Amino acid sequence: MDFQQLTTARPDTQLADPGAVLQQVFGYEQFRPLQEDIIQELVAGRNALVLMPTGGGKSLCYQVPALVRPGTAIVVSPLIALMQDQVAALRQLGVRAAFLNSTIDLQEARATENALMTGELDLLYCAPERLLQPRTLELLGRASISLFAIDEAHCVSQWGHDFRSDYLGLDILAREFSQVPRIALTATADERTRREIAERLSLTDARHFISSFDRPNIQYRIAPKVNANKQLLDFIKSEHEQESGIVYCLSRNKVESTARMLEGKGYTALPYHAGLPPEVRANHQERFLREDGVIVVATIAFGMGIDKPDVRFVAHLDLPKSLEAYYQETGRAGRDGNPSTAWMVYGLQDVIKLRQMLEGSMGNEQFKRIERQKMDAMLGLCEVTTCRRQALLRYFGDSLEQSCGNCDTCLTPPETWDGTVAVQKALSCVYRTGQRFGVSYLIDVLRGVDNDRIRQAGHHLVTTYGIGTELAANEWKSVFRQLVANGFLRTDPEGYGALQLTEDCRALLKGERGIELRKDPAVKASTRRTRDRANLSDHVQDPEGWEALRACRKSLAEQQGVPPYVIFHDATLLEILERRPRTMEEFAGITGVGKAKLDKYGETFLSVLAGGSST
Ligand code: ADP
Ligand code: ZN
Repeated sequence: MDFQQLTTARPDTQLADPGAVLQQVFGYEQFRPLQEDIIQELVAGRNALVLMPTGGGKSLCYQVPALVRPGTAIVVSPLIALMQDQVAALRQLGVRAAFLNSTIDLQEARATENALMTGELDLLYCAPERLLQPRTLELLGRASISLFAIDEAHCVSQWGHDFRSDYLGLDILAREFSQVPRIALTATADERTRREIAERLSLTDARHFISSFDRPNIQYRIAPKVNANKQLLDFIKSEHEQESGIVYCLSRNKVESTARMLEGKGYTALPYHAGLPPEVRANHQERFLREDGVIVVATIAFGMGIDKPDVRFVAHLDLPKSLEAYYQETGRAGRDGNPSTAWMVYGLQDVIKLRQMLEGSMGNEQFKRIERQKMDAMLGLCEVTTCRRQALLRYFGDSLEQSCGNCDTCLTPPETWDGTVAVQKALSCVYRTGQRFGVSYLIDVLRGVDNDRIRQAGHHLVTTYGIGTELAANEWKSVFRQLVANGFLRTDPEGYGALQLTEDCRALLKGERGIELRKDPAVKASTRRTRDRANLSDHVQDPEGWEALRACRKSLAEQQGVPPYVIFHDATLLEILERRPRTMEEFAGITGVGKAKLDKYGETFLSVLAGGSST
């Protein structure tokens, strides 16, 4: 790469003004909340710790100061696979960016190092293990450094799920480069992780910038699982046809079978899990990033750092283990701010399976206790009868004054019913049959089913036999699910799926307290969402024009070997379609069009609008 060829993005005038950089380089009119304060802090040479949700706009917080302050900004990121696209996106903007990690050969690395030493780089992305090599540290010691940005900073936390031991070494930056401002960024919200980041990265003196964790453009929905595949198909078909999405499953087998099922229905659905060869995984990730309308079916192994902005839906066919995981996984939808859906189905078996996994896992009691609490919080969100967003944000110590109007419980408030008597029957049935049976059996006893198994056990003689005919089997299932989810019943430690009473259920059994249960909505076509669909192309007035713009973007992207959104985001494309600029000047006024992109693509897109050919 010849760095000389990259024109500098710095505005010709003085470098001092972040606002000018925002407009001229990035093509954005205004900073988002907190961005400006964070940038000021860094520009003034002070440290910062930033917590922002995915899609909140963290990158600009260091990219703008990188262009304002003299020297090269060093960005530490564990996401090697993405550095290339991040750098490509910056170069599109005319910013002089490069990366150093294990994927490049010696020659390239030397060229990049030279560019660093001669002051030809605005930003240098670097994997942590690379940064910590004595050679790199020695080079940095001689280079002019504007700032250090430590992305995905929660990787320093041993409690988190993304711990990277290399991150522990990063506090060397505080000692060796005490004059250089440092910014640590993460989307992981909880207090404990934040404290750990501050301590381990020697950022205790840094100002903390914590933005709201609300993602208003994501619609949260959780439905009882009836027929998961059919529900998933209905959901995609009616709301996200032809759009990109991620479907999460717990096991590799289920990933494979779900991907095959979707393929069979004509979707481009690619499996992704740790059991696939690395090259297959890389290929599927690549296709997801570069092609339109690809669905990835994955275990949690997929997704960290996927910063594809136009993922329109995230579907969960299995329960995540915690709200942290749920929030992080659903957060991969809609980074571009456009309407997106976080959709999940869950049922009694999921609860039982997760509880069994937890109890059977290695780990000491304290660890299990924490995990148990996390799972309870997750189940709480599933069963909540008030606004899901409020519940979710409350968990992260954030608050939302009013119910959101954009989650399923807001859109179709669930009915509740007085489950006191039913719950007494269910619990005493568990008790009378010796706490040795699973749900189906218990339901059969309650409903007075006459079969050999029950007769042999003598359970046709217990007092709870046949006392529950007022509810259908699936209604009883819903009762049991809520009892397990709310901790009144647990599964046996041996893992047979037998239900047992917990301490908490005493008051219920004795009738000392009542309980309201959620009435599961009937899953019929009629309960499908009737409000505005999230499908982006539904908002487009001129489908032909839209397709022409997309085709143009696609061919430009292919020519350069970059993902389409690196050329322009959907939101920018939509604005072009709506405002129909006719001159370069008008084109410059589109959000997301900075100086470099105006020069590179202005003419091409204007000619598409004028009805000419796209390339
Ligand atoms: P994060 O790293 O926090 O997940 P990004 O930095 O990738 O988020 O930003 C998310 C999206 O928001 C990107 O497409 C980015 O270009 C856009 N964005 C960030 N700041 C602004 C702004 N001030 N105005 C308009 N768009 C912005
Ligand atoms: Zn709501």
